[in-house]
Amino acid sequence: MQITCLADLANTRTCPRLVVKVGSSLLVGPEGPRHAWLTGLVAEIAAARARGQEVIVVSSGAIALGAARLGLDKGGRGSLADAQAAASVGQIALSALWAGLLEAHGLVAAQLLLTLDDLEDRRRYLNVTATLTRLLDAGAVPVINENDSVATQEIRFGDNDRLAARVAQAAWASAVLLLSDVDGLYDRNPADPAAQLLPQVQGVTAEIHAMASAESASGMGSGGMTSKLQAAEIAERAGIALVIANGTPDAPIARALEQGIGTLFLPKRKAGARKAWLGGRLRLKGALVVDAGAARALEKGSSLLAKGIVSVEGEFQRGDAIAIRDSEGVILAHGLSEYDAGECRLLVGTHSSEQAAILGYAPRSAVVHRDQLVLL
Ligand code: GLU
Repeated sequence: MQITCLADLANTRTCPRLVVKVGSSLLVGPEGPRHAWLTGLVAEIAAARARGQEVIVVSSGAIALGAARLGLDKGGRGSLADAQAAASVGQIALSALWAGLLEAHGLVAAQLLLTLDDLEDRRRYLNVTATLTRLLDAGAVPVINENDSVATQEIRFGDNDRLAARVAQAAWASAVLLLSDVDGLYDRNPADPAAQLLPQVQGVTAEIHAMASAESASGMGSGGMTSKLQAAEIAERAGIALVIANGTPDAPIARALEQGIGTLFLPKRKAGARKAWLGGRLRLKGALVVDAGAARALEKGSSLLAKGIVSVEGEFQRGDAIAIRDSEGVILAHGLSEYDAGECRLLVGTHSSEQAAILGYAPRSAVVHRDQLVLL
């Protein structure tokens, strides 16, 4: 059963497994953790559990909380070292907070701190799936954050919106609820009195991207609407519904789902699990730039042949995930390369009949086979 409206996220049949992402500005106020608000939210999570839904929490707030404890300026985001120290102090407090509040409802909290690589590497990704499945089967409530104290800038998600979408994918969740400090996506800057809230989005198009302003109202988290739309793209491709809703009011889940206030991004037809993982990858080892003919052929479902490649970027090995893009820089697909970067460079523009002589061995049928490719 597909999710078609906000109320479906509260329905055990349409949404047996829900990921709830809580932003930093909701969890942490100027005085420290916002206990009363969080107590209300945990009561809503317990209610979802009581009606038979499994819930995974993705919780931000470690950096904000740690910065307050250590007295760091700029909310702990002044430098990477500050953010990592703040996250380290904040995370332990954050875990205690969630564990204590869930415990009050007889629920067991389970902490997972993930880095980007844990979800980008296929083997580690499957391992995360196994751990989450086991935890949910055992009745625990996983509480997840990025492992900010060890992840360096280049290997960070940096925002928990995309992390939540990737976690939902790994956990086979039905939906992701991003609790933020805005009601949802507006058709223009929400500060404009004429701005209208979009109740539903079918496909994150260029037009939808244009509506997003990168500003986060609080300046405390690192998300903003741009990362929320990227999360929506990951989710829709994986066949998962995603909702942006305002977490600020008391009982925010009920407000969003019962009163229908929020933006629902409808899932696309579910891609195969492996292709969805590939399409959602954020860090790629390189790129193959293709000509217009190859772009059209890919669109029709063909494999990528060397003939249509005009240049090769980056260093990658056979089997690595790479982007396929046009000369304008538009990414058309993600795929697994059949050759390493050096071999790809030798093969640029060549016909298959020439390739055995160039490579010194029998060529493969394509540079990226259509079974190892997902169009974006
Ligand atoms: N992982 C960060 C934290 O716990 C938050 C990232 C975000 O703002 O989305 O503070």
